[in-house]
Amino acid sequence: MRADSLDGMGLQAVAEQHTGAEAALDVRENVPLAPYTTLGIGGPARWFITATTEAEIAAAVQFARDRHVPLFVLGGGSNLLVSDNGFPGLVLHVALRGVHTSVERPNESVYVTAAAGESWDELVQFTVEENLQGMECLAGIPGSVGGTPVQNVGAYGQEVAQTLVSVRCLDMRDLRFVELTRADLRFGYRTSLLNAAERGRYIVTRVTFAMKRSGTPGSQPNLSYADLKRIFPEPARPTLAEVAEAVRGIRRGKGMVVDAADPDSRSAGSFFRNPIVPQESLERVAQVSGLHVNQVPHWPAGEGCIKLPAAWLLEHAGFVRGTVLGRAGISSKHTLALVNRGDAAQRDIAALRERIVNGVRARFGIELEQEPVNVG
Ligand SMILES: Cc1cc2nc3c(=O)[nH]c(=O)nc-3n(C[C@H](O)[C@H](O)[C@H](O)COP(=O)(O)OP(=O)(O)OC[C@H]3O[C@@H](n4cnc5c(N)ncnc54)[C@H](O)[C@@H]3O)c2cc1C
Repeated sequence: MRADSLDGMGLQAVAEQHTGAEAALDVRENVPLAPYTTLGIGGPARWFITATTEAEIAAAVQFARDRHVPLFVLGGGSNLLVSDNGFPGLVLHVALRGVHTSVERPNESVYVTAAAGESWDELVQFTVEENLQGMECLAGIPGSVGGTPVQNVGAYGQEVAQTLVSVRCLDMRDLRFVELTRADLRFGYRTSLLNAAERGRYIVTRVTFAMKRSGTPGSQPNLSYADLKRIFPEPARPTLAEVAEAVRGIRRGKGMVVDAADPDSRSAGSFFRNPIVPQESLERVAQVSGLHVNQVPHWPAGEGCIKLPAAWLLEHAGFVRGTVLGRAGISSKHTLALVNRGDAAQRDIAALRERIVNGVRARFGIELEQEPVNVG
């Protein structure tokens, strides 16, 4: 990854001069979506456009409007469950590239701006090689930079909300490019404005992060997560690159790095969010499991609520690693990952999902929520 290439593209200048209609678009028809997803599932998109500039993004939105068809924004396809019937409108694949690093002032944050179509993991690698702290624990997460603010991607003690400063987006209401700040984005656990209150309104074209130069105050790698503490016990002082590599190693062991050689990684990551439930639910969970409340893992979630680990609930409802249902299954390395065991269709994954959701509800009275986005 090369820094400063974003400005080289003149991304901002292009976007502000064009509202889009004149951009030449490469429109394809009836394009199978399965190859664009990490689950490898999904029928065809009626129309498919890959946009490499902001002008093309705006023009593609106009294209869908002119035909009165729905539009779906595709990043790296790592958090999607696409219908076997495909998508009846336009799939807009965001493929803008470029990374820019701000001029550095002593003891101030370094601002890294990346176009939405950049690979997230490559951006993480770029920042750790540049000795910039703030994303090292998010190494190995698949998908695009533009996809990360949507559900406030997080892992191993970090989430993008901690470093993200702003996103530039196309507001589809009036086809204008706007800057949304971290406060505007109303981040929460696996949520933001983009997948909640204003879902489907904005297309992210680039994201800016404030990073700390290694060696400046507060720039130590984040080792808050137990697995990382085990690898780097006190007084170890690993570099950012070492932490990122350790995270990738832990993730590989769980099938959570996309790898063609690992069938357990043919997934959409964690399929269920950790449910946030009223404190009283904890007693019921403990009671039906024959445990004391202190033996049930949970974290405070504010306002009289707690967060329960979805993986624990699945396991205690009988859905263990390696469970198989036809062509779908639970990863043999990670309880929360539903996998395509080969030629699975969306309905196979949906059947397994229903079985799990019903099983957990019947046992604990808790409603699990699907994390990947349904398409079509
Ligand atoms: C093996 C594996 C491990 C994973 N591990 C984690 C993890 O540890 N933590 C975690 O949080 N997630 C994890 N995920 C989920 C996923 O990688 C992230 O949610 C990722 O950020 C999705 O980005 P994407 O570009 O692939 O988005 P897509 O899957 O293409 O899209 C997801 C959603 O974002 C929207 N979107 C994408 N790009 C844009 C854009 N430019 N503008 C507006 N909307 C957009 C889409 O419309 C859709 O609603 C994992 C997935 C896999 C397969």
